[in-house]
Amino acid sequence: MPSSPEPNITGTNQGTGPDHFGVISKIQRYSTRDGPGIRTTVFCAGCNLRCIWCANPELFTGDTQILYYRNRCVRCGACTARSRGTIIIGPEGCEIDRIHCNNLAECAAACNHEAYESSGHSITPVELTRKLLRDKAFYDQSGGGITFSGGEPALQPEFIAETAALLRNAGVHTALDTAGNAEWESLETMAENMDLILFDIKAFDDEIHKNCTGVSNSLILENAERFARWNKVLWIRLIFAPPFNDGTDWEKRLDFVNFLGKAVNRIDLLPLHKLGAGKYCALDMPDPLEGVPECSPEAVAEALRIAECKGLTLII
Ligand code: SF4
Ligand code: SF4
Repeated sequence: MPSSPEPNITGTNQGTGPDHFGVISKIQRYSTRDGPGIRTTVFCAGCNLRCIWCANPELFTGDTQILYYRNRCVRCGACTARSRGTIIIGPEGCEIDRIHCNNLAECAAACNHEAYESSGHSITPVELTRKLLRDKAFYDQSGGGITFSGGEPALQPEFIAETAALLRNAGVHTALDTAGNAEWESLETMAENMDLILFDIKAFDDEIHKNCTGVSNSLILENAERFARWNKVLWIRLIFAPPFNDGTDWEKRLDFVNFLGKAVNRIDLLPLHKLGAGKYCALDMPDPLEGVPECSPEAVAEALRIAECKGLTLII
């Protein structure tokens, strides 16, 4: 099916206000896991959590990150020649001195072998909306739409709110995927223009949450309750990552979901995976999950059984 013609979109401020530029990492089309129907997921840069299972470490900071994939590098030396000594070719490919290299993007641009990838660029709500509406025919036919994910969209509330408002005016379903660790005002600003909230609850016990994500969950649980009271349609997302947040914490999380009540429209169980390992390597960062096994099917089956005992049906 061809994409829809270029839409004529006008923002409230034409995207010229400094607050209204956003930084996004990528736009993923034809997604079927981040809400109903066929969707486009917008990955927003920046996150205020540091989950040990995070598969997108390039989103931690809200700025441009350069990933280097040594399996694509042919050791031609083009980037090293441009680097003024901060990139050298070692036995296993390029060795990048990321602390002292202040022009890595420029060096990466010299590569003709796609060994470097850049993540994170600025865009205005109007520009982003225009891009997203190209697939409107798919959204219309499938009952899909747009999901703002991340990273943490709540770190850029005005940008997200304005983009979501433009999309809604164009008749597109909008969803917000958040870890909820933000002031309520920021979440509310965005959620007013959202049809669906995907809300992550990563652990119930505060100490476990701190160990897994680096932050307390008190604000997160409070915000989950606020969404439930508001009666926003909620999809709760539960990462299941033994040995970090299983056992009694799993049971407590399920009890909390039950407590949220009828606003919860669906519950997803997300088993721990290790698909982010290549990105940690490409960013020269240690992989926090090194040596940790992936979640076994038996553990997932047991987690589902416990949920069922509590009257909850989870979707994997
Ligand atoms: S320019 Fe690309 S292929 Fe050549 S050494 Fe640098 S990263 Fe490797
Ligand atoms: S909230 Fe999401 S993006 Fe942020 S660190 Fe956790 S898994 Fe990564």
